[in-house]
Amino acid sequence: MRKFVIMGIQGSGKGTQAKLLADDLDLVHLSVGDILRWNVQNHTKLGAQVTRIVASGELVSDDLVETVIQDRLALHDWNYGFIVDGFPRNARQAEFFLESYDIDGVIDLDLPDSEVERRVLARRLCSGCGLDYNLIAHRPKIDDVCDVCAAPLRTRSDDNPQALAVRLREYHDKTRPVIELFQRKEFVVTVDATRSAPEIQAELRTRLGLPALTTS
Ligand code: AMP
Repeated sequence: MRKFVIMGIQGSGKGTQAKLLADDLDLVHLSVGDILRWNVQNHTKLGAQVTRIVASGELVSDDLVETVIQDRLALHDWNYGFIVDGFPRNARQAEFFLESYDIDGVIDLDLPDSEVERRVLARRLCSGCGLDYNLIAHRPKIDDVCDVCAAPLRTRSDDNPQALAVRLREYHDKTRPVIELFQRKEFVVTVDATRSAPEIQAELRTRLGLPALTTS
């Protein structure tokens, strides 16, 4: 059983790295942002509650995200463990999390602010299967069309300069201190996220004592 948290600034590749680990190690990948976006896209009651907040770049309420985490982990379908992505994002969420779950390690993807805007504004998401694209590093073969399911690609509602400025402020004010708290209490592996996704994954695995990725 392996339980990880993955943290890092916007565009640092949390989703990509979490998916690589989850697919290979059979972990449940629990992304609060993905769950919220799914609810917005599918017009659920929860989606209606968060759509404007997510688009603005603000954090949604702690109660709401704690319920999302609790409900997802209560399914107990994580026989081999989980990797939590995008949570905790402030001191209260960190307290809730540490009281409720033991974790084996925290992955901290380190990316300078100067790289963030370039990466985030180039990001596209498949409206069908949710696959991530990036017009710099991972372009689709046909513009604006998913290589895997052929659905149109779209831009996240919060990947624009205004919402990004709010998200960066939230990150530096509220989330970065959580990483500092974890550094005092947990096993934190900080890796340089300016490199390619396979290089980052390889270093993470070495530092976490995990076997090297065998599939490509
Ligand atoms: P992400 O996909 O992780 O960048 O999250 C997208 C948006 O979802 C954030 O900007 C917040 O509005 C919301 N969100 C995701 N995770 C959290 C969280 N732990 N606490 C509060 N809001 C969150």
